[in-house]
Amino acid sequence: MNGDWIRVGRGVFQRRYQPLDISIGVVVGPTGLVIVDTRGNPAEAEEILRDVAEDFSLPVVAAVDTHAHYDHTFGNQAFVARGIPVYGHHRIPHHFARHEERRLEKVRNQPESEPDKQWLDVELTAPTMLVDARLRIEPGGRAVELLPLPPGHTDTDLAILVPDARVWFLGDVIEQSGPPMFGSGSFPLEWPEALRSLLQEIRAADVIVPGHGSVVDRAFVETQATQLQAVADEIRAAHDAGVAPSDVRLGRQLHDHWPDSFLRSAVRDAYARLSDG
Ligand SMILES: [Zn+2]
Repeated sequence: MNGDWIRVGRGVFQRRYQPLDISIGVVVGPTGLVIVDTRGNPAEAEEILRDVAEDFSLPVVAAVDTHAHYDHTFGNQAFVARGIPVYGHHRIPHHFARHEERRLEKVRNQPESEPDKQWLDVELTAPTMLVDARLRIEPGGRAVELLPLPPGHTDTDLAILVPDARVWFLGDVIEQSGPPMFGSGSFPLEWPEALRSLLQEIRAADVIVPGHGSVVDRAFVETQATQLQAVADEIRAAHDAGVAPSDVRLGRQLHDHWPDSFLRSAVRDAYARLSDG
């Protein structure tokens, strides 16, 4: 079941859609709506567009991708087909080529490998407006700031701030309904630092919408940065001690917090970076 629109700030809404409990945002401006993230296939994106048409009597004038992962971008084509600009981190096309495109091909060729994915009519669609530096846009007559982040959850993470409401949409650099996900192009060693740089911008009373889950506060981001730092420190120590990636055994507190498969992905991604030099 999908939730209803939740007001998270003045004229700013979140809706939690299934599958994956993904956060979709709406920023209501005087003349139009900005949508945050586009869901995992064109039909899911069409559902967003129907829902906002029913509930807000304004046109959709822009969409923004928080990062490249399929559950946030595979609906892009529904927006682009309507001539709606889609903003996103400038490295999304690069990430698509390395990760999402391969996965899409694999699922098309072997649907049984991920039977929950409805990807037959997905046309991989990168953002039409690539962002490589902090950018302020006002497509619906209301300012929205886009901040490309250093590598973390991916190297395509874009923080979105509605400055007059002090609401942030952070995608999966922060997750609330489950632990943050490693794999599919993650940067486990750099992620804590990306959060610390972001914390310099986040004020104590700001509202933060994670990519999955309910709104959190600045203290939650600090805690998640500390947890991610513990993962980074243990992997780096294992690497420095010459432990082979398949032999890395991370501490029990980490296993209390993350599923084994996530931690194995973290080790794999971090080791790949460390051996890149
Ligand atoms: Zn993600």
